[in-house]
Amino acid sequence: MEIVVSGIRPTGNLHLGNYFGAIKNFIKMQKENKCYFFIADYHSLTTHPTPNDLHGNVKQVLVEYLAAGLDPDISTIYIQSDVPEIVELYLLLNMNAYLGELERCTSFKEKVRKHPENVNAGLLTYPTLMAADVIIHKASKVPVGKDQEQNLEMMRTFARRFNRIYKTDFFPIPSAYNFGKALVKIPGLNGVGKMGKSEEEGNALFLADNEKVIRKKVMRAVTDSGPIEMNQEKPEPIKNLFTLLEVVSSPDVVAHFNELYNKCEIRYGDLKKQLAEDMVEFCHPFKEKIEELSKNNNYLRKVVKMGAEKARESASKTIKEVREIIGFKEF
Ligand code: AMP
Repeated sequence: MEIVVSGIRPTGNLHLGNYFGAIKNFIKMQKENKCYFFIADYHSLTTHPTPNDLHGNVKQVLVEYLAAGLDPDISTIYIQSDVPEIVELYLLLNMNAYLGELERCTSFKEKVRKHPENVNAGLLTYPTLMAADVIIHKASKVPVGKDQEQNLEMMRTFARRFNRIYKTDFFPIPSAYNFGKALVKIPGLNGVGKMGKSEEEGNALFLADNEKVIRKKVMRAVTDSGPIEMNQEKPEPIKNLFTLLEVVSSPDVVAHFNELYNKCEIRYGDLKKQLAEDMVEFCHPFKEKIEELSKNNNYLRKVVKMGAEKARESASKTIKEVREIIGFKEF
Protein backbone atom coordinates (compact mmCIF):
# COMPACT_ATOMS: atom_id res chain seq x y z
CA MET A 1 0.00 0.00 0.00
CA GLU A 2 1.66 3.19 -1.24
CA ILE A 3 0.64 6.81 -1.04
CA VAL A 4 0.11 7.89 -4.64
CA VAL A 5 -0.54 11.39 -5.98
CA SER A 6 -1.66 12.11 -9.50
CA GLY A 7 -2.50 15.45 -11.09
CA ILE A 8 -5.14 16.00 -13.74
CA ARG A 9 -4.83 18.95 -16.10
CA PRO A 10 -8.17 20.70 -16.57
CA THR A 11 -7.93 20.93 -20.33
CA GLY A 12 -9.89 19.11 -23.00
CA ASN A 13 -12.24 16.14 -22.98
CA LEU A 14 -11.10 12.65 -22.15
CA HIS A 15 -10.34 10.53 -25.18
CA LEU A 16 -9.80 6.81 -25.53
CA GLY A 17 -6.04 7.28 -25.19
CA ASN A 18 -6.51 8.86 -21.77
CA TYR A 19 -8.89 6.07 -20.79
CA PHE A 20 -6.79 3.07 -21.84
CA GLY A 21 -3.42 4.73 -21.22
CA ALA A 22 -4.15 6.24 -17.81
CA ILE A 23 -7.59 6.00 -16.21
CA LYS A 24 -8.01 2.26 -16.56
CA ASN A 25 -4.76 1.89 -14.64
CA PHE A 26 -5.87 4.48 -12.07
CA ILE A 27 -9.05 2.48 -11.39
CA LYS A 28 -6.97 -0.54 -10.48
CA MET A 29 -4.36 1.53 -8.65
CA GLN A 30 -6.92 3.23 -6.41
CA LYS A 31 -8.12 -0.14 -5.11
CA GLU A 32 -4.64 -1.14 -4.01
CA ASN A 33 -3.21 2.15 -2.71
CA LYS A 34 -4.04 5.34 -0.89
CA CYS A 35 -4.59 7.60 -3.88
CA TYR A 36 -4.90 11.35 -4.17
CA PHE A 37 -6.17 12.68 -7.49
CA PHE A 38 -6.27 16.42 -7.88
CA ILE A 39 -7.42 18.76 -10.60
CA ALA A 40 -4.47 21.05 -11.22
CA ASP A 41 -6.27 24.37 -11.55
CA TYR A 42 -3.40 26.47 -10.15
CA HIS A 43 -1.11 24.98 -12.77
CA SER A 44 -3.58 25.86 -15.50
CA LEU A 45 -3.29 29.58 -14.68
CA THR A 46 0.02 29.75 -16.55
CA THR A 47 -2.07 29.95 -19.73
CA HIS A 48 -4.44 32.63 -18.32
CA PRO A 49 -7.91 31.10 -18.79
CA THR A 50 -10.95 33.36 -18.30
CA PRO A 51 -12.78 32.84 -14.99
CA ASN A 52 -15.65 31.12 -16.79
CA ASP A 53 -13.37 28.84 -18.76
CA LEU A 54 -11.40 27.96 -15.65
CA HIS A 55 -14.49 26.86 -13.75
CA GLY A 56 -16.00 25.12 -16.78
CA ASN A 57 -12.81 23.16 -17.44
CA VAL A 58 -12.49 22.07 -13.82
CA LYS A 59 -16.09 20.89 -13.73
CA GLN A 60 -15.74 19.06 -17.02
CA VAL A 61 -12.67 17.05 -16.02
CA LEU A 62 -14.17 16.31 -12.62
CA VAL A 63 -17.32 14.96 -14.27
CA GLU A 64 -15.43 12.95 -16.85
CA TYR A 65 -12.97 11.37 -14.44
CA LEU A 66 -15.82 10.41 -12.11
CA ALA A 67 -17.78 9.02 -15.05
CA ALA A 68 -14.72 7.05 -16.13
CA GLY A 69 -14.36 5.38 -12.76
CA LEU A 70 -12.35 7.39 -10.24
CA ASP A 71 -14.13 6.63 -7.00
CA PRO A 72 -14.43 9.43 -4.41
CA ASP A 73 -15.29 6.91 -1.71
CA ILE A 74 -11.98 5.10 -1.94
CA SER A 75 -9.71 7.84 -3.34
CA THR A 76 -9.25 11.45 -2.37
CA ILE A 77 -10.40 13.50 -5.35
CA TYR A 78 -9.91 17.23 -4.90
CA ILE A 79 -9.31 20.52 -6.57
CA GLN A 80 -5.78 21.83 -6.07
CA SER A 81 -6.89 25.38 -5.20
CA ASP A 82 -9.04 24.01 -2.35
CA VAL A 83 -5.84 23.06 -0.53
CA PRO A 84 -3.88 26.26 0.25
CA GLU A 85 -1.27 24.26 2.16
CA ILE A 86 0.10 23.27 -1.25
CA VAL A 87 0.85 26.92 -2.00
CA GLU A 88 2.69 27.35 1.24
CA LEU A 89 4.87 24.34 0.52
CA TYR A 90 5.41 25.66 -3.03
CA LEU A 91 6.72 28.93 -1.60
CA LEU A 92 9.01 27.12 0.79
CA LEU A 93 10.39 24.86 -1.94
CA ASN A 94 10.97 27.87 -4.22
CA MET A 95 13.41 29.28 -1.68
CA ASN A 96 15.73 26.38 -2.45
CA ALA A 97 15.04 26.03 -6.16
CA TYR A 98 17.59 27.68 -8.44
CA LEU A 99 17.09 29.62 -11.64
CA GLY A 100 19.60 27.51 -13.56
CA GLU A 101 17.98 24.18 -12.84
CA LEU A 102 14.47 25.51 -13.49
CA GLU A 103 15.55 27.07 -16.79
CA ARG A 104 17.16 23.80 -17.87
CA CYS A 105 13.86 21.85 -17.71
CA THR A 106 12.86 20.52 -21.09
CA SER A 107 9.19 21.36 -20.56
CA PHE A 108 10.10 24.96 -19.65
CA LYS A 109 12.38 25.32 -22.66
CA GLU A 110 9.65 23.99 -24.89
CA LYS A 111 7.12 26.46 -23.50
CA VAL A 112 9.60 29.31 -24.06
CA ARG A 113 10.09 28.20 -27.63
CA LYS A 114 6.37 27.85 -28.35
CA HIS A 115 5.12 30.89 -26.42
CA PRO A 116 7.95 33.43 -26.14
CA GLU A 117 5.36 36.11 -25.33
CA ASN A 118 4.25 34.33 -22.15
CA VAL A 119 7.31 33.20 -20.20
CA ASN A 120 5.89 33.77 -16.71
CA ALA A 121 7.27 32.86 -13.29
CA GLY A 122 4.52 30.25 -12.89
CA LEU A 123 5.90 28.36 -15.86
CA LEU A 124 9.45 28.60 -14.55
CA THR A 125 8.42 27.28 -11.13
CA TYR A 126 6.03 24.64 -12.46
CA PRO A 127 8.39 21.90 -11.15
CA THR A 128 8.33 23.23 -7.58
CA LEU A 129 4.53 23.37 -7.61
CA MET A 130 4.49 19.82 -8.94
CA ALA A 131 6.86 18.74 -6.19
CA ALA A 132 4.66 20.46 -3.60
CA ASP A 133 1.57 18.69 -5.01
CA VAL A 134 3.18 15.33 -4.43
CA ILE A 135 5.20 15.68 -1.26
CA ILE A 136 2.43 17.58 0.56
CA HIS A 137 0.92 14.09 1.14
CA LYS A 138 4.33 12.52 1.70
CA ALA A 139 3.64 10.38 -1.35
CA SER A 140 5.99 7.61 -2.32
CA LYS A 141 4.67 7.06 -5.85
CA VAL A 142 3.62 9.14 -8.83
CA PRO A 143 2.09 7.65 -11.97
CA VAL A 144 4.04 9.38 -14.74
CA GLY A 145 4.36 8.88 -18.44
CA LYS A 146 7.65 8.96 -20.33
CA ASP A 147 7.24 12.68 -21.03
CA GLN A 148 7.04 13.40 -17.31
CA GLU A 149 10.23 11.68 -16.23
CA GLN A 150 12.18 14.91 -15.87
CA ASN A 151 9.43 16.43 -13.74
CA LEU A 152 9.59 13.42 -11.46
CA GLU A 153 13.35 13.84 -11.23
CA MET A 154 12.83 17.47 -10.14
CA MET A 155 10.35 16.39 -7.45
CA ARG A 156 12.93 13.97 -6.17
CA THR A 157 15.59 16.68 -6.19
CA PHE A 158 13.47 19.11 -4.17
CA ALA A 159 12.39 16.46 -1.66
CA ARG A 160 15.98 15.30 -1.22
CA ARG A 161 17.25 18.86 -0.94
CA PHE A 162 14.77 19.68 1.81
CA ASN A 163 15.79 16.56 3.73
CA ARG A 164 19.47 17.42 3.31
CA ILE A 165 19.20 21.08 4.29
CA TYR A 166 17.21 20.29 7.41
CA LYS A 167 19.05 17.06 8.22
CA THR A 168 15.87 15.01 8.25
CA ASP A 169 14.26 12.14 6.39
CA PHE A 170 10.86 13.78 6.63
CA PHE A 171 9.93 13.57 2.94
CA PRO A 172 9.92 10.20 1.20
CA ILE A 173 11.64 10.44 -2.19
CA PRO A 174 8.85 9.73 -4.70
CA SER A 175 9.38 7.29 -7.53
CA ALA A 176 7.39 6.27 -10.60
CA TYR A 177 4.36 4.09 -10.04
CA ASN A 178 4.91 0.95 -12.03
CA PHE A 179 1.83 -0.25 -13.89
CA GLY A 180 3.42 -3.60 -14.63
CA LYS A 181 3.20 -4.53 -18.28
CA ALA A 182 4.11 -1.96 -20.92
CA LEU A 183 1.65 0.89 -21.14
CA VAL A 184 -0.68 0.72 -24.11
CA LYS A 185 -0.46 3.43 -26.71
CA ILE A 186 -3.74 4.25 -28.37
CA PRO A 187 -3.35 5.39 -31.96
CA GLY A 188 -5.35 8.19 -33.54
CA LEU A 189 -7.69 7.92 -36.52
CA ASN A 190 -5.62 9.99 -38.93
CA GLY A 191 -3.31 7.11 -39.76
CA VAL A 192 -0.15 8.26 -37.98
CA GLY A 193 0.88 8.63 -34.39
CA LYS A 194 -1.09 8.49 -31.19
CA MET A 195 -4.47 9.75 -30.20
CA GLY A 196 -4.24 13.18 -28.62
CA LYS A 197 -6.63 15.98 -27.83
CA SER A 198 -4.61 18.68 -29.53
CA GLU A 199 -4.17 16.82 -32.79
CA GLU A 200 -6.26 17.56 -35.85
CA GLU A 201 -10.04 17.38 -35.65
CA GLY A 202 -11.40 13.86 -35.92
CA ASN A 203 -8.20 12.14 -34.79
CA ALA A 204 -9.43 11.48 -31.26
CA LEU A 205 -12.56 9.70 -30.04
CA PHE A 206 -13.84 11.29 -26.86
CA LEU A 207 -15.77 9.48 -24.16
CA ALA A 208 -18.38 12.23 -24.41
CA ASP A 209 -18.84 11.91 -28.20
CA ASN A 210 -22.34 11.00 -29.33
CA GLU A 211 -23.11 8.05 -31.62
CA LYS A 212 -23.31 10.13 -34.75
CA VAL A 213 -19.95 11.75 -34.14
CA ILE A 214 -18.27 8.44 -33.33
CA ARG A 215 -19.62 6.82 -36.50
CA LYS A 216 -18.54 9.79 -38.59
CA LYS A 217 -15.02 9.89 -37.15
CA VAL A 218 -14.47 6.15 -37.50
CA MET A 219 -15.84 6.00 -41.04
CA ARG A 220 -13.43 8.80 -42.00
CA ALA A 221 -10.37 7.08 -40.50
CA VAL A 222 -7.40 6.88 -42.83
CA THR A 223 -6.82 3.53 -44.60
CA ASP A 224 -4.89 2.46 -47.70
CA SER A 225 -5.76 0.72 -50.94
CA GLY A 226 -5.70 -2.72 -49.31
CA PRO A 227 -3.29 -5.65 -48.96
CA ILE A 228 -1.82 -7.08 -52.13
CA GLU A 229 0.03 -10.06 -50.71
CA MET A 230 -1.21 -12.81 -48.42
CA ASN A 231 -0.17 -12.32 -44.76
CA GLN A 232 1.57 -9.06 -45.48
CA GLU A 233 2.56 -6.77 -42.66
CA LYS A 234 0.05 -4.03 -41.91
CA PRO A 235 1.11 -0.45 -42.61
CA GLU A 236 0.57 2.07 -39.80
CA PRO A 237 -2.95 3.30 -40.57
CA ILE A 238 -4.26 -0.26 -40.78
CA LYS A 239 -2.33 -1.45 -37.74
CA ASN A 240 -3.86 1.48 -35.88
CA LEU A 241 -7.38 0.46 -36.81
CA PHE A 242 -6.70 -3.06 -35.60
CA THR A 243 -5.29 -1.72 -32.32
CA LEU A 244 -8.51 0.22 -31.79
CA LEU A 245 -10.53 -2.88 -32.68
CA GLU A 246 -8.52 -4.85 -30.11
CA VAL A 247 -9.42 -2.48 -27.28
CA VAL A 248 -13.17 -2.32 -27.90
CA SER A 249 -14.19 -5.41 -29.88
CA SER A 250 -14.37 -9.08 -28.96
CA PRO A 251 -11.38 -11.33 -29.80
CA ASP A 252 -13.36 -13.23 -32.45
CA VAL A 253 -14.19 -9.99 -34.26
CA VAL A 254 -10.48 -9.11 -34.28
CA ALA A 255 -9.59 -12.63 -35.47
CA HIS A 256 -12.23 -12.44 -38.20
CA PHE A 257 -10.87 -9.20 -39.70
CA ASN A 258 -7.29 -10.36 -39.31
CA GLU A 259 -8.12 -13.45 -41.30
CA LEU A 260 -9.79 -11.40 -44.04
CA TYR A 261 -6.77 -9.07 -44.12
CA ASN A 262 -4.36 -11.97 -44.38
CA LYS A 263 -6.37 -13.47 -47.25
CA CYS A 264 -6.50 -10.05 -48.98
CA GLU A 265 -10.28 -10.17 -48.77
CA ILE A 266 -10.77 -7.36 -46.30
CA ARG A 267 -13.17 -4.53 -47.01
CA TYR A 268 -12.18 -1.59 -44.87
CA GLY A 269 -15.74 -0.26 -44.97
CA ASP A 270 -16.95 -3.38 -43.13
CA LEU A 271 -14.13 -3.18 -40.60
CA LYS A 272 -14.91 0.47 -39.90
CA LYS A 273 -18.63 -0.21 -39.56
CA GLN A 274 -17.94 -2.90 -36.99
CA LEU A 275 -15.39 -0.71 -35.20
CA ALA A 276 -17.85 2.19 -35.15
CA GLU A 277 -20.62 0.05 -33.62
CA ASP A 278 -18.28 -1.39 -30.99
CA MET A 279 -16.98 2.11 -30.19
CA VAL A 280 -20.52 3.41 -29.83
CA GLU A 281 -21.35 0.57 -27.46
CA PHE A 282 -18.14 1.13 -25.48
CA CYS A 283 -18.57 4.90 -25.13
CA HIS A 284 -22.33 4.92 -24.52
CA PRO A 285 -22.25 4.21 -20.74
CA PHE A 286 -19.56 6.89 -20.25
CA LYS A 287 -21.54 9.43 -22.20
CA GLU A 288 -24.70 8.70 -20.19
CA LYS A 289 -22.80 9.05 -16.91
CA ILE A 290 -21.14 12.28 -18.05
CA GLU A 291 -24.55 13.76 -18.89
CA GLU A 292 -26.08 12.61 -15.63
CA LEU A 293 -23.22 13.91 -13.48
CA SER A 294 -23.03 17.24 -15.30
CA LYS A 295 -26.58 17.97 -14.19
CA ASN A 296 -26.00 16.89 -10.61
CA ASN A 297 -24.28 19.90 -9.06
CA ASN A 298 -25.30 18.81 -5.56
CA TYR A 299 -23.41 15.58 -5.92
CA LEU A 300 -20.37 17.30 -7.45
CA ARG A 301 -20.33 19.81 -4.60
CA LYS A 302 -20.39 16.93 -2.11
CA VAL A 303 -17.53 15.12 -3.86
CA VAL A 304 -15.38 18.24 -4.00
CA LYS A 305 -16.06 19.16 -0.38
CA MET A 306 -15.27 15.66 0.84
CA GLY A 307 -12.09 15.60 -1.28
CA ALA A 308 -10.94 18.99 0.03
CA GLU A 309 -11.50 17.90 3.63
CA LYS A 310 -9.55 14.67 3.22
CA ALA A 311 -6.74 16.37 1.27
CA ARG A 312 -6.44 19.23 3.76
CA GLU A 313 -6.29 16.85 6.66
CA SER A 314 -3.22 15.21 5.17
CA ALA A 315 -1.72 18.47 3.82
CA SER A 316 -2.09 20.45 7.04
CA LYS A 317 -0.40 17.70 9.01
CA THR A 318 2.58 17.87 6.64
CA ILE A 319 2.74 21.67 6.67
CA LYS A 320 2.59 21.83 10.44
CA GLU A 321 5.61 19.56 10.69
CA VAL A 322 7.45 21.31 7.86
CA ARG A 323 7.01 24.65 9.61
CA GLU A 324 8.51 23.23 12.77
CA ILE A 325 11.42 21.66 10.88
CA ILE A 326 12.16 24.97 9.13
CA GLY A 327 12.08 26.88 12.39
CA PHE A 328 8.74 28.66 12.40
CA LYS A 329 8.16 28.16 16.09
CA GLU A 330 5.54 29.41 18.51
CA PHE A 331 6.54 31.94 21.14
P1 AMP B 1 -2.73 14.30 -21.75
O1 AMP B 1 -3.82 15.03 -21.03
O2 AMP B 1 -2.88 14.28 -23.24
O3 AMP B 1 -1.38 14.74 -21.28
O4 AMP B 1 -2.85 12.78 -21.31
C1 AMP B 1 -2.91 12.38 -19.98
C2 AMP B 1 -2.43 10.94 -19.87
O5 AMP B 1 -3.24 10.10 -20.70
C3 AMP B 1 -1.01 10.72 -20.37
O6 AMP B 1 -0.05 10.92 -19.38
C4 AMP B 1 -1.03 9.26 -20.79
O7 AMP B 1 -0.86 8.42 -19.66
C5 AMP B 1 -2.44 9.08 -21.30
N1 AMP B 1 -2.54 9.17 -22.75
C6 AMP B 1 -2.80 10.28 -23.50
N2 AMP B 1 -2.86 9.98 -24.81
C7 AMP B 1 -2.64 8.64 -24.92
C8 AMP B 1 -2.58 7.70 -26.01
N3 AMP B 1 -2.82 8.06 -27.27
N4 AMP B 1 -2.32 6.41 -25.71
C9 AMP B 1 -2.11 6.00 -24.44
N5 AMP B 1 -2.15 6.83 -23.38
C10 AMP B 1 -2.42 8.13 -23.60
